[in-house]
Amino acid sequence: MIFDLKTAFENPVNLRFKLSPDWWKADEYDNSVLGLDTDMDVSIHIKRAGERYILEGSLLGRLILRCDRCIEPFRFDLKTEFRWFLVPYPKQIQEEIELGKDDMSVVFISEDEIELDDIIRAEIYLAVPMKILCKEDCAGLCPHCGRNLNKEKCICKKSSGHPAFMKLKDLLNNQ
Ligand SMILES: [Zn+2]
Ligand SMILES: [Zn+2]
Repeated sequence: MIFDLKTAFENPVNLRFKLSPDWWKADEYDNSVLGLDTDMDVSIHIKRAGERYILEGSLLGRLILRCDRCIEPFRFDLKTEFRWFLVPYPKQIQEEIELGKDDMSVVFISEDEIELDDIIRAEIYLAVPMKILCKEDCAGLCPHCGRNLNKEKCICKKSSGHPAFMKLKDLLNNQ
């Protein structure tokens, strides 16, 4: 969704809309976010501040994430607020550093238009924890047989010894 900043030149603009689950497009570099579970409420406020614009927004919805440990999908409640500084490009480096001290995200814009989808996607990734776990004590997958240890037990866990030996043991057990 393209937003023309000129429309916020005189007066601040408030946008409220919903994004449906089919809005999400998979990312080939990051597959931790599988998609939206439900419609996501988006609220965005854009106001001019001299040459720049300040964009404030919030997201409320539910994501489907993939657990880092057991690789199963699970639902994750998303609630985040953000603030971006849109600065006309080019600007002096010095100013960039100064702005960087603030906890606002600084974005350099070369045109009057911004792609809101990009900002929303970036905020979704920022709101997702570094370590994505379906539950705090997720037991993960057995490194030997690959079973999901949240759902079933396996004999490998009790065994100890060299993995090659355990593979042999598995073979013997299966007979
Ligand atoms: Zn898990
Ligand atoms: Zn196992």
